[in-house]
Amino acid sequence: MESKALFERSLKVAPGGVHSPVRAFKSVGGTPIFFKEAQGATLTSVEGKKYIDFCMSFGPLILGHRDPVVQQAVHAMIDTAWGFGACEPYSLELAEWIQARIPWVQKLRFVSSGTEAVMSALRVARAATGREKVLKFDGCYHGHLDSLLVKSGSGLAGEASSDSAGVPESVARTTIVVPLNDIGAFERALEVHGSDLAAIAIEPLPANYGLLEQTPEFLKRVEAGAKRVGALWLIDEVISGFRVGLTGMAGRAGLKPDLVCYGKVMGGGFNVACYGGRADLLDLVAPNGKVYQAGTLSANPVGMKAGLTTLMRAESLNVWETLESRTREFTRQLNAGFEKHDLPWKVDQFASLFWIRERTSSPIRAISDIPAGHKAAYAKLFHELVGRGIYLPPSGYEVGFVSYAHTPEILDQAATQMIEAARKV
Ligand SMILES: *Cc1c(COP(=O)(O)O)cnc(C)c1O
Repeated sequence: MESKALFERSLKVAPGGVHSPVRAFKSVGGTPIFFKEAQGATLTSVEGKKYIDFCMSFGPLILGHRDPVVQQAVHAMIDTAWGFGACEPYSLELAEWIQARIPWVQKLRFVSSGTEAVMSALRVARAATGREKVLKFDGCYHGHLDSLLVKSGSGLAGEASSDSAGVPESVARTTIVVPLNDIGAFERALEVHGSDLAAIAIEPLPANYGLLEQTPEFLKRVEAGAKRVGALWLIDEVISGFRVGLTGMAGRAGLKPDLVCYGKVMGGGFNVACYGGRADLLDLVAPNGKVYQAGTLSANPVGMKAGLTTLMRAESLNVWETLESRTREFTRQLNAGFEKHDLPWKVDQFASLFWIRERTSSPIRAISDIPAGHKAAYAKLFHELVGRGIYLPPSGYEVGFVSYAHTPEILDQAATQMIEAARKV
């Protein structure tokens, strides 16, 4: 059956035909492609067409689809057990592996999604400080928990309003939102709200609204601000953790979070995430402390095995270095092609993440820097590339990912097609 027919059936059972909004292609238009199979860097649609995949499940698949070593570990686990709801050694192995390598993770708790991780970390921060408010940055995504599903409101000092129907204004008002890359606005918000803030949360490499790389100075100033006002410093590394390097963006920027969240790469493509940080904070969590948090499928052994095998393999192959140099070369080629043909495109790159957008005269570090026509321009490029067998994320605000399965040959081939596509649109 073809994608179109499957989508029509899907529309009858799920809102918008999907189980997560971006999959519906609303941002780029057209009918979503249904995929039936994936291997390495390749997706196969139900029609049998092959695509080079740069969406990679929105980030988790750092080794590519069905890496053979991870696949074997998952098979072996399934042949042993796939759920206990009781103590088992598999999550212990992954927890110890992380704790031994990441100094700011003194203790951690596994959960099943990034949203759950951030939501729980925030609950800990509120319990630990006895404060209610949380400061976030406009352009950072932290999952779909009520208190962070907010946008900047009309207030001058960062008062937020809800960004989704169903989020009470009373909840939105507990969140303060300030723009990225604007230390003045941040300091003003601290003057007004500093002593009420339980946490200051950030994506240290904002990659859910384009790729909005922050300067190390900005990150350091925010960290200093959090410490000064006694707010906990909550780093959301769900997308950047184990993606930009073993110790994530915190490691690269020299940050020292009180609380940190991981997900995506950490689960090797399965439903695994965690929150961790200072032992005294994690010890506030039940059954040790009074912060309640639980999960029927938390630390599911299949996910634990997939995660640990992915991370061990990433470390032993040093995939981070390889991916970074391949991605740098890939985006260098793209930018050289765009310039050679005088095309209005630019690719931003950080480690193995990239973002294609219209060319601007200065770097894009905040939402307000994104050109107004970006969404429409991206939609055209996206469909031209689909025709050429290249699958980018189906939204101009999502970033692309290079995996270990994207060989230099595949990347060369993709770059040639992408430059040709950009000339065409
Ligand atoms: C993906 C993401 C989340 C949400 O994770 P889910 O597993 O989709 O709930 C939270 N924060 C960041 C930075 C993310 O990239």
